[in-house]
Amino acid sequence: MFHAQILTLFPEFFDSPLSCSIPKRAIAAGIVQVETIQIRDFATDKHHSVDDAPYGGGPGMLMKPEPVVASIRAAREQHPDTHVVMLTPSGSRFTQAKALEFIEKPGVTLLCGRYEGFDERICNYVDEQISLGDYVLSGGEPAAICVLDALIRLLPGVLGSPESAVLDSFSEEGILDWPHYTRPENFEDKRVPAVLLSGNHAAIESWRRAQAKARSKNRR
Ligand code: SAM
Repeated sequence: MFHAQILTLFPEFFDSPLSCSIPKRAIAAGIVQVETIQIRDFATDKHHSVDDAPYGGGPGMLMKPEPVVASIRAAREQHPDTHVVMLTPSGSRFTQAKALEFIEKPGVTLLCGRYEGFDERICNYVDEQISLGDYVLSGGEPAAICVLDALIRLLPGVLGSPESAVLDSFSEEGILDWPHYTRPENFEDKRVPAVLLSGNHAAIESWRRAQAKARSKNRR
């Protein structure tokens, strides 16, 4: 079974997204096991502090190394072969290729930051730093749930039709999905392209590939 551990100050963040649809079914089927670990439980001072002011001055607070590193050690103790991923805007961009790489591992541990981010020395204790994109979220939790969701739907046995994952956007390097249509054939004078009603599978396949290529070129 693939394991996912999430190191966070807000374990309750994950309750809703993991309790519906595909993640819920994957967990119930025993394909993935997801566990949250509260970083604050590893704080040792009487106020259970997990943050402190930056050396050199500047706004905001930083995640302190002691509780964060202790929580990483606890995660590795439970799963010695886990791949520890720090979520940070300064990381390498998360892609479908990266998702496919991660599901080949026995499991992942996703480290979520808050405040102004992590004390830099924490980077020495993780295997990889990953960003969701070039924008700043208020915490690592929304990034972690996106990563986790992308992994879960790729795990064998999760999607009803395994072909769906193969046909998704990015399954072919840099290529977006083609446009899809369902009933009705005519919606407010916007018609389904005639080729999709033709029954000519070769023509449909070639139309879809051309659409995907054109869309990828225009939008990326
Ligand atoms: N000062 C940091 C910077 O400018 O890079 C931003 C810190 S952000 C407010 C707090 C936390 O949210 C980060 O430590 C990280 O865990 C998470 N986060 C924010 N944006 C992210 C992104 N694009 N990808 C992954 N994690 C992100």
